[in-house]
Amino acid sequence: MTALDNAQPDTLSHYLCIGCPMGCRLEVETEPDHPSQIVEVRGFSCRRGEQYAHQEHTEPRRMVTTTVKIDRGIWARVPVKTLEPIPKGQVKDLCIALRQVCLTAPVERGAVVLADALGTGVDVVTSRSMAAATFDNVAGSAVR
Ligand code: SF4
Repeated sequence: MTALDNAQPDTLSHYLCIGCPMGCRLEVETEPDHPSQIVEVRGFSCRRGEQYAHQEHTEPRRMVTTTVKIDRGIWARVPVKTLEPIPKGQVKDLCIALRQVCLTAPVERGAVVLADALGTGVDVVTSRSMAAATFDNVAGSAVR
């Protein structure tokens, strides 16, 4: 038996389901000449995993969490997140766009930072509130 005997056909793609801690190993079989045309999905233990395999194979999406600048806040940056996953191919461009954003404290948790980010239909919002800095609450004031 040679190594080629064990080679997998290139009609098979493998994914790890992140839907729950079971981490099922998913296998997607496609048409030989049409890699986007799914013939069968195997390895899932529930419907959610089957849907995830279809999504990951045809249009992978990711949640984006990062931080943006904020003026007059108790910290220099505030954490933000997308409300829904966005196409994986747009994650880098969104991070670049968020580098241009600068908020002004105070801000509430859930405040829209970027509406319909990059035309995805998904908003980016703050994931915590941030008070405006005062003499009493500014970061590091306790050691002055
Ligand atoms: S297929 Fe279902 S059971 Fe398996 S990891 Fe995904 S969500 Fe969990």
